[in-house]
Amino acid sequence: MPTLISGISGVRGIINDGFDPDVVTRYTIAFGRMVGGGKIVIAQDTRPSGKMFKDVVESVLQSIGCDVIDCDVCPTPTAQLMVEKLDANGGIIVTASHNPIEWNALKFVGKGGLFLDAEQHAELMRFLETPVEKLEKWDVVGDLTRQHDAIRQHIEDVLALKLVDAELVKRRRPKVVVDAINGAGSKALPGFLTALGCEVIRMNCDHDGNFVHTPEPTPANLTDLMARVREEKADLGLATDPDADRLAVIDENGEPLVEEYTLVLAAYHALRHAEKADGKVLVTNLSTTMALDDLAARYGRKVLRTPVGEIHVARQMQKQPTLIGGEGNGGVILPECHLGRDSLVGAGLILTLLAETGQSMREIADELPRYQMVKDKISIGTADAKKILADLAEEYKSETPNLEDGVKITWSDRWVHFRASNTEPIIRVFAEAKDEATASQLVQDFKAIIEKLL
Ligand code: MG
Repeated sequence: MPTLISGISGVRGIINDGFDPDVVTRYTIAFGRMVGGGKIVIAQDTRPSGKMFKDVVESVLQSIGCDVIDCDVCPTPTAQLMVEKLDANGGIIVTASHNPIEWNALKFVGKGGLFLDAEQHAELMRFLETPVEKLEKWDVVGDLTRQHDAIRQHIEDVLALKLVDAELVKRRRPKVVVDAINGAGSKALPGFLTALGCEVIRMNCDHDGNFVHTPEPTPANLTDLMARVREEKADLGLATDPDADRLAVIDENGEPLVEEYTLVLAAYHALRHAEKADGKVLVTNLSTTMALDDLAARYGRKVLRTPVGEIHVARQMQKQPTLIGGEGNGGVILPECHLGRDSLVGAGLILTLLAETGQSMREIADELPRYQMVKDKISIGTADAKKILADLAEEYKSETPNLEDGVKITWSDRWVHFRASNTEPIIRVFAEAKDEATASQLVQDFKAIIEKLL
């Protein structure tokens, strides 16, 4: 069956079996009309189908009068930053992020460099559904300019951050193994780390779209990187996903810190440097580790929670002074740079922390609050996920569950979060506790409860 998934994060599908040049054309016209023409930034990851789809996007945009700025292959955060810096009306990134190689997708960026929010996405859908009879208002073909230095500008911006100290890092000269899965971070991340003063060992940094392992940067997919860190006696390993917004950290023993701790480490660095009375909060999504709340509490700070998805975190970060934000999947957002998950920013903060403390990655990690997360799913067949979640919320009313994104029940030292999948007949369940046995038990207990509700 052809696979095409359209949602707030963009439109993705299996190449030429759901996601094809026709789909790309229709979405691109809708987006170009929605933003009212003008300058639009385009980028792609390294997937072999990337250039073909990028060419479609660019031609279509030009045909409706938009001026295209082509950043070529670069990380998603680089493209977001360029939309902001060039004051473009929007951006389209051709990337299926962590999805396998047979997938591709369009991610839409609004003016200012943030992804589309629910309102903007609804507007895009309205344009998509409105047939275009004539394009007469758009009968002037737009320009195409190539932006060759997008990655360099991005690197310079991250190096200039107050929380990133290249002088300090240079003195310690940490040895870092980088696994960029031959994706869009293959030049940007090692280039940044070299400029920061690290000794960089490149692994899967060939920039050719050869996804040598499953692209999601989770521990199960990073065993080669772990081995290489041990072999090279490196100080740490860093891995990104194919569009380099997410970052995973491996310690000096080749042990993964799991993606949840990328944000916790970056937040630790930001908290150590924050002015006491600045009143700034931290922002993350409902599924991110509680370690962040415990750590923030040590510094007298609060964590605000949002529905899952970068745009929800970014929008919340605009509402009050925020120290740092991000998502537990390895996405660090530092407002001084831009409001998007950025693996270069994450790496800059973590390497500066390492240099500043003089400790090893493991020693630093051991000082952080520790939790274990268990992720599972429950098949619900033809049952109505919404109804099951509503029944569950009713049954646990006394625990005042959070209903902003599925159902989340939080106790002082553990939580459980249920979300319905948009694409499969399943409910995802995440649980976290001080130890794995307790988290697993929590999942098992609630699975039994949900099965009864079916
Ligand atoms: Mg990604």
